[in-house]
Amino acid sequence: MSREYRIETKCIQSGWKPKKGEPRQMPIYQSTTFKYDTTDEMGRLFDLKDNGYFYTRCQNPTNDFVAAKIADLEGGVAAVLTSSGQAANFYAVFNICEAGDHVICASAIYGGTLNVLGVTAKKMGIECTFIDVDAPAEELEKAFRPNTKAVVAETIANPSLVVLDIEKMANLAHSHGVPLIVDNTFATPVNCNPFQWGADIITHSTTKYMDGHAAQVGGAIVDSGNFDWEAHAEKFPGLTQPDESYHGVVYTKQFGKAAYITKINAQLMRDLGSIPSPMNCFILNLGLESMVLRVERHCYNAQKTAEYLEAHPLVSKVNYPGLPGDKYYELAQKYMPKGTCGVISFELKGGREAAVKFMDSLKLASIVTHVADAKTSVLHPASHTHRQLNDEQLVAAGVSPGMIRLSVGIEHIEDILEDLEQALAASEK
Ligand SMILES: *Cc1c(COP(=O)(O)O)cnc(C)c1O
Repeated sequence: MSREYRIETKCIQSGWKPKKGEPRQMPIYQSTTFKYDTTDEMGRLFDLKDNGYFYTRCQNPTNDFVAAKIADLEGGVAAVLTSSGQAANFYAVFNICEAGDHVICASAIYGGTLNVLGVTAKKMGIECTFIDVDAPAEELEKAFRPNTKAVVAETIANPSLVVLDIEKMANLAHSHGVPLIVDNTFATPVNCNPFQWGADIITHSTTKYMDGHAAQVGGAIVDSGNFDWEAHAEKFPGLTQPDESYHGVVYTKQFGKAAYITKINAQLMRDLGSIPSPMNCFILNLGLESMVLRVERHCYNAQKTAEYLEAHPLVSKVNYPGLPGDKYYELAQKYMPKGTCGVISFELKGGREAAVKFMDSLKLASIVTHVADAKTSVLHPASHTHRQLNDEQLVAAGVSPGMIRLSVGIEHIEDILEDLEQALAASEK
């Protein structure tokens, strides 16, 4: 047994492990295909009888080194990388659902997940019920149906910053014989370990803190290996019945704890192909090496910024789960005691007009459709992501016209606060 390192060490040492004379930095296998000596050798790969690479759409060594690192960071048994966070969340669900099935999803969730499960999955015959994760368990019970196959939620929701009661949700899912899939993008494995609290599958948009430099779009799916698919075999025929497209392989029988991830590689990647480029995986791996340091600084800066904004006379409201007065403070303390994330939302007393003046006056923080990278950035949902909605619809969606989403970067905290100070002063004029 190799010794279990702490996360700071795993970020550096997991994944690529060079042998004598091999490069210390992880190599990029920028190749579509891999060579074999005999017809039979390659044939055995197609039968999933031997382990090996043959075509990058199905698997690539560089991608797999990085996937192994992320699996290690989350404490999972296996992981797969995807070309985006969107693909990760879609594959995580579609791997165990098909037409006629049903899933349950938190309503406080990333807009892209809301769309893929609420609109696109519906066109494929998969129905989704959106729930308020804060409701008591007895209430949430009602959302389950005999054909429910999974529960989906985010540890810290983007952008509402709702913190999930992971234990409550895992117990609920398990009592109905289905896995809990948790998107851990905002908390990262640095701050939260969802498997420890009963989550079964973790997804990531690696585009955010894992990369951390706004340089590549990517996703990851990690399996804890803890969900017993065989115990609920009738619900999950895709894993427990022969796959005719692979000579009748039964994933749970042949691959044990790696069944779920193997099925994604063998079936979904083969057929749908959302593979990341090895080059992007290399960039992601550089980000992972410094992730702990960056996330610590993001959280330190965001905490200071949230406290500053909360005390500011022009600010009417601040949402940040690290603030003792926040609705999610206690849950955050339980599930992520080291810190939450670098994203804050706040509202100006002057409403929409003041928000626009504030945004336009910022000099250091940039206006971008992005969060969770090294550079401080802002977005005005009423003018950007929720632009189609009028003021009443905005309020119904939980977005007030004066709300600003601030992603606090890792610059010096005084420079960030000085920028906010001058922009707030300008917002009054
Ligand atoms: C950004 C994001 C996604 C989507 O990821 P992409 O990499 O942009 O496709 C999914 N979930 C969360 C929580 C996100 O923040």
